[in-house]
Amino acid sequence: MIYIAGQILRGSTFEEGYLGIDRGIIVETGSGRSPERPAIEGIVVPSYVNCHTHVGDAAVSLDLGLSLEELVAPPDGLKHRALAAMSGDMLRSSILSATGMMLDTGTSHFIDFREGGIMGTEALAGLSPPPHATIMGRPSDLRYDEEEVSSIIDIAHGIGISSISDWERSELDALADHLHREKVPFAMHASEGRREDIDRILSLEPSFIVHMCEATDVDMRRVGEEGVPTVICPRSNLFMGKTPPLSRMIEAGMELCIGTDNFMNADGDMRAEMEMMARLLRSQGSDARLAIDAAFISSRKLLNLDAELPFTEGRAANLVVYKGRGTEPACDLLFRSGNGMGMVCIR
Ligand SMILES: [Zn+2]
Repeated sequence: MIYIAGQILRGSTFEEGYLGIDRGIIVETGSGRSPERPAIEGIVVPSYVNCHTHVGDAAVSLDLGLSLEELVAPPDGLKHRALAAMSGDMLRSSILSATGMMLDTGTSHFIDFREGGIMGTEALAGLSPPPHATIMGRPSDLRYDEEEVSSIIDIAHGIGISSISDWERSELDALADHLHREKVPFAMHASEGRREDIDRILSLEPSFIVHMCEATDVDMRRVGEEGVPTVICPRSNLFMGKTPPLSRMIEAGMELCIGTDNFMNADGDMRAEMEMMARLLRSQGSDARLAIDAAFISSRKLLNLDAELPFTEGRAANLVVYKGRGTEPACDLLFRSGNGMGMVCIR
């Protein structure tokens, strides 16, 4: 058995304590000093859940001169042209480079919006590399095909579409009906580059939505009232010239989870994403520590993971230790990267 000690995240706060770990399982927890010399000391947090990725994009070369629309809008945005031209081998190596990067930086679970119809879904499902993937597949074209959707949801966990603006109303209604009939999760990007009709979005009963950069306060309140979790991806948004209005989202009662979005413009490092959220929160007049709740409570809840007490005896020791200790662990975790990662343990 080894001991890990230091500032351990419990709920929203850090406590001085230790964890005893035997063969990847937490067998002892305590507050105060470790009973034996710890193998490593630092700031101890649960493994990350990255709530929004596109792992196929890691091999797409970026063109810095292009706008959001020109880069990612289907079917002709740069990313979609690049994905369509990608060989199966290249797609698989793109997926493996993205998942390897996430694993190395402490992510144990991710939710991927998988483009490319059945083939794209199969590419990730077939590899099933760690971290654990929740696959949100999507139809290959912007139209509903019953047979195709049935085939995708046979292997995917749900469907995640680009946005309501890209779809004909009747086609999208048919898709949503199919998914709700089968009780399959349905998610979508919402008001990323421009405002979209929130009543229309909510009428589709999404399990969660992504972005909401261009939403109005009324839109945000509607989402908060309906209790639909929203995944925010600050680094990707900023790259595309958008700033997620995080303080207004929180004031509106929205539950915020964190994702890193397209690998072509932001890597899968959740600590970096959380830090960017913290910086934006401060710049918008809110408490930066809300980024910790978004990463370790709301994001875990989205996958029904043990959000409240991940460090309980008998549970798998899925955790990350950042070396060293500062006076304020939250501050170290959010703003200082100098100490580096001491340990990543993911089962
Ligand atoms: Zn996305």
